[in-house]
Amino acid sequence: MKAFVLRERGRAEIVCDAPEPVLSEPYGAVLSPAAMSPCTSDVNTVYGTGSKKPDNLILGHECVARVVKTASGVRDFKPGDLVAVPAITPDWRETAIQEGNDRHAGRPFSGNALGRTIPGVFAEYFAVKDADTTLAKVPEGVSLKDALMCVDMMTTGLTGAEEAEIRFGDTVVVMGIGAVGLMAVRGAVLQGAARVLAVGTRPVCVKLAREFGASEVLSYKNGDIVRQVLDRTGGTGADAVILCGGGDEVFPQAIDMVRYGIGRVVNLKHYPGDGAMEIPKFSGGRGMAGKTVKLELCRGGRARIERMMKLVEYGRIAPGKLVTHELSGFEKIAEGLELMRHKPADLVKVMVTP
Ligand SMILES: [Zn+2]
Repeated sequence: MKAFVLRERGRAEIVCDAPEPVLSEPYGAVLSPAAMSPCTSDVNTVYGTGSKKPDNLILGHECVARVVKTASGVRDFKPGDLVAVPAITPDWRETAIQEGNDRHAGRPFSGNALGRTIPGVFAEYFAVKDADTTLAKVPEGVSLKDALMCVDMMTTGLTGAEEAEIRFGDTVVVMGIGAVGLMAVRGAVLQGAARVLAVGTRPVCVKLAREFGASEVLSYKNGDIVRQVLDRTGGTGADAVILCGGGDEVFPQAIDMVRYGIGRVVNLKHYPGDGAMEIPKFSGGRGMAGKTVKLELCRGGRARIERMMKLVEYGRIAPGKLVTHELSGFEKIAEGLELMRHKPADLVKVMVTP
């Protein structure tokens, strides 16, 4: 079958002889993508500095798919069903799940497997091990584009807003307004933030940030971003900061711009390479500032993604707006990845329909 595979670091290509997935008994399913989206984390997998990947790894973790085959123990799905496939697929049979640890149960990043440690979704067919706990039914009236943006971008951005424990009336800063940041903006609004300061410059993202509910959009180009936030908050800083983009410098900046005593910083962004994520001694109150920092991977699994799509169904959020580029034909996934890598000015996310 055709698949988009990682040949070696820095080289991904379409192949026609990838092995077809095997149906896992008793709970598994085999599926075929109806829409796929390449992601910045796929770019990191191909071009980044992460751990060694399996040989000829099939890439991809964002898709909406049709069920092709189900194993004997599958209860809720049948061939032909349209489903959203979560980017994060925890093994709900792992004991640590009972302790609330779904994303790192058993080992770090165990939930982040598709297209990283096991074959991903950029193929004519792919498999999941446990259909009933993994696949999310796409409701009538939720478009392919909206459903596709629920599986990673929206659940990630909303994870940031949830972990920030936003209260009614909060002032929230979202640093970086790519797809995840834009969803964090909307998530903060839905959680009750009064004021959302979005930090970013690309015009397509600035426009969407306003549509999703940002009250102000700040730019690095107008001077020190910490100063800009402090100036706008009477010197006290934001109640919460959600980090979704930028370089290593944003981590200490977030500590600098969040309130003493009750401030929360949630990091959703990836820091490549080695070294440290530094907490400044001064704004960290020399270790006693009363600021909380959380380092988070997005939530996944069936119930989570079905909740995401319920927000879409009832008009609370329109993640499909993130799709700025649509490509048709399976082979176009290669072009989609390059678009995500080079990010032309008008791009937020790509949808590829095979
Ligand atoms: Zn992704």
